[in-house]
Amino acid sequence: MARVRHSKKDIEQALRAAEAQGWTVTPTKAGHRWGKAECGSGCVLSVWSTPKNPQNHAKQMSRAVARCPH
Ligand SMILES: [Zn+2]
Repeated sequence: MARVRHSKKDIEQALRAAEAQGWTVTPTKAGHRWGKAECGSGCVLSVWSTPKNPQNHAKQMSRAVARCPH
């Protein structure tokens, strides 16, 4: 899949895990926002380009993916 990679490897891994669950990752560069991840049925996550703690941000994302009821 030709998607722009996230520069933080922890976050890139979380994005790939989300994609493996059927989520769509869309880079929408705007300030500190790198892009968004959507489950396709209502859940939307903001992906930050330079979070203070990339590992926490990645964990938050995988938690949101695990919580998605769709
Ligand atoms: Zn969902």
